Amino acid sequence: MSEVKRDAFIDGRWVAGEARFAVTDPFDDAPIADVTDADEAMADTAVAAAERAFAGWSRRAAPERGTLLGALGARMLADERRLAELCTRENGKPIKESLAEVRYAASFLTWFAGEAGRVYGETIPASNPAQRLLVTREPVGPVAVITPWNFPYAMLTRKLGAALAAGCTVVAKPAEATPLGTLAIAELAQEVGVPAGVFNVVPTSRAREVGGHLLAAKAIRKISFTGSTEVGMLIMKNAAADLKRVSLELGGNAPFVVLSDADLDAAVAGALVAKFRNSGQTCVAANRFIVEEPVAEAFAGKLRAAVAELHVGRGSDPRTDVGPVIDDAAARKIAGLVADAVKRGARVVLGTPPDGASRLIHPVILDGITPEMALWRTEIFGPVIALRTAADEGAAIAQANDTEYGLVAYVYTRDGARQLRVAEALEAGMVGVNEGLVSTAQAPFGGIKHSGFGREGSRHGIDDYTNLKYIAQRIG
Ligand code: ADP
Repeated sequence: MSEVKRDAFIDGRWVAGEARFAVTDPFDDAPIADVTDADEAMADTAVAAAERAFAGWSRRAAPERGTLLGALGARMLADERRLAELCTRENGKPIKESLAEVRYAASFLTWFAGEAGRVYGETIPASNPAQRLLVTREPVGPVAVITPWNFPYAMLTRKLGAALAAGCTVVAKPAEATPLGTLAIAELAQEVGVPAGVFNVVPTSRAREVGGHLLAAKAIRKISFTGSTEVGMLIMKNAAADLKRVSLELGGNAPFVVLSDADLDAAVAGALVAKFRNSGQTCVAANRFIVEEPVAEAFAGKLRAAVAELHVGRGSDPRTDVGPVIDDAAARKIAGLVADAVKRGARVVLGTPPDGASRLIHPVILDGITPEMALWRTEIFGPVIALRTAADEGAAIAQANDTEYGLVAYVYTRDGARQLRVAEALEAGMVGVNEGLVSTAQAPFGGIKHSGFGREGSRHGIDDYTNLKYIAQRIG
């Protein structure tokens, strides 16, 4: 295993700073690396490099850009074990999930390697026979990419893949808890020959100051952000000052609806994936389980039995299903949400309410959830299942839509017409029908309402990185 990269990556060079910040293992606080704490001046240098590189990169033949992206994806897969171990160390997630994340992350590079050559334009029949009307798609320019800590590789590559395929250059600011994964990808990008300045990384512990400075840079023409709704709103507000384009993938509050004719075993299997992936710390995590009354008891019973089997522990242990949450603040927040629900009458049907002192949180199932409880409106981001019953399909849909978020919704039912009817009624950018895992590089990932806008992955994922140019040509 080569040494972990721990400096800023600017214009094809590793740049060490005097100021450094510590990256630690969420399981036991063991130090992993001291990383260069990039300042505003370094962010400026990275933006200048991205701006310089843009001219050459955007003019390269698209299939050539695709070839480099494909090589980077393959390089990630060749190194998947090392990358997975690094992810488990800085993020804490179970090693089998880290491995899945590396493959998922690489799949975006492979996907956009193909899409690079498919940034098609169009010709439009003109009303004037002496005219020809053409539409082309041009890269928007240098892009600033801000990513969260929960999927350090995948949140990066689904932006990086689309941006580089379109011909944009990138300055990435990873989350302060997990900068090492992004630096590892930068190292591989350098190895496969991505030109200097095309992909730059500025790790920083001062997200608001240095991140804000980066986003405000004149040369940055687009911002792609994944993180909290609160920060997303701030970023959009600030971007208005320069009318930069913005894509926001923000928080969720996903309903998981189980109707009376559902295959309950399939629903439980889907629930485990939708709830416990990354120890509950995903924006697509099922946050509110809404179960039609006739099957509420049976579903809760099967769920209890399955959840009781989950192994909680250190991410590097191959048996582990649920690892530590990212930091102490997360542990306290989850404990607070459970305490609030119990105080307002929720019943604990499995587990013990967490005390907020340990980051290792054992799964808890609560039922009797009501809309007054804070966890009904708040992304729990931890291994806590909140169950509520609904009298019928209409009530279930109303409960599911009782949120300002709209990222994903899940529904379980065997009835084909009902599947589509409910999927159409659910207010979300994505719906899983008898499916607990919707994320895949081929499909458009993204939300509505307070979950943001823009789509990542799929043939649509590149749109946010291109401007349409219309050319009217007179030929006679
Ligand atoms: P999370 O709850 O996932 O930590 P955040 O929105 O706080 O969500 O963080 C997501 C990303 O946004 C991280 O990379 C973080 O450093 C960055 N970030 C947080 N605040 C700001 C800000 N004011 N400006 C720019 N980036 C920020």
